[in-house]
Amino acid sequence: MKCCEDGNFVQGNLTHYGNIQFSPFAAVLNYGQGIIEGLKVNRKEDGRLLLFRPDQHALRMKMGAQRMCMPSPSIHQFIHAVKQTALANIRWVPPPGKGSLYIRPLLIGSGPVLGVGPAPEYMFLTYASPVGNYFKQDKTPLSLYVEEEEVRAFSGGVGGVKSVSNYGPVLKALVRAKSLGFSDVLYLDSVNKKYLEEVSAANIFTLKGNVISTPPTSGTILPGITRKSIIEIARGLGFQVEERSISVHELTEADEVFCTGTAVGVAAVGSVTYRGTRFEFKVGENTVCQALGSTLVGIQTGLIEDKEEWIINIH
Ligand code: PLP
Repeated sequence: MKCCEDGNFVQGNLTHYGNIQFSPFAAVLNYGQGIIEGLKVNRKEDGRLLLFRPDQHALRMKMGAQRMCMPSPSIHQFIHAVKQTALANIRWVPPPGKGSLYIRPLLIGSGPVLGVGPAPEYMFLTYASPVGNYFKQDKTPLSLYVEEEEVRAFSGGVGGVKSVSNYGPVLKALVRAKSLGFSDVLYLDSVNKKYLEEVSAANIFTLKGNVISTPPTSGTILPGITRKSIIEIARGLGFQVEERSISVHELTEADEVFCTGTAVGVAAVGSVTYRGTRFEFKVGENTVCQALGSTLVGIQTGLIEDKEEWIINIH
């Protein structure tokens, strides 16, 4: 779908997967005017396709677009595009329990602009890829590295939206952490370098007794749809959930640490390394992380009743 200066996206079309052409002056290529989303389609035992909270993803893209001075497709247009993409790629949706079809909506300033300014034309497109099952019982727990030099986001910036410009700047820290043998980076706040923010593409939670804590989404942290869902699931299971600043020093006392995101689901964190000290947490059978993860996957794959109406059946 394309949109010109009037801000309205006109009816788009399905085309075969392939390269797209832009002017070298395209705003997204030069000035990073772009927003991404990411959501999954799962196949239920009866063959039906299930989409998890697409309205929330549409809404987040809308908020991100506002921040990046872009028009956005309506909620209906977004969901329609995602559905059409899933239906056109039905043969690529893995069988139940084997994975999902990941759909990537992309909103970009496609029109040419030389001086810094918003693009004269925007493009909204979606594409898809089958992905494996992240949430396996035997999945190796994550080992996180606390990054102290580079920050992911800062107050007044775009950390709270899924701007394409958020990901390039964290690659250096990510590559360094991976070369040291860690699975991912845990970012700290930019002011005090003391409070937990999030992981490269997932939100972070800690558990101590019956209390689950996660940093508040006050502008520098992406408000994850999985994060929001896990907060509701955890409260429903009787946990006390607090959205509050968590100091890196509190990790010494945490029973469990886990990450949430569309890609990882609910992933156990086995260790966090901060200034050379490795803090370890409970993982595996009978953990809260596992209970929350299997409830979420159960809802997403139609095995557990969807009381909150999070699921849309698309086929
Ligand atoms: N944080 C960042 C920076 C992300 O890119 C993502 C992935 O979308 C998340 C958190 C998790 O968000 P969600 O649960 O909506 O996938």
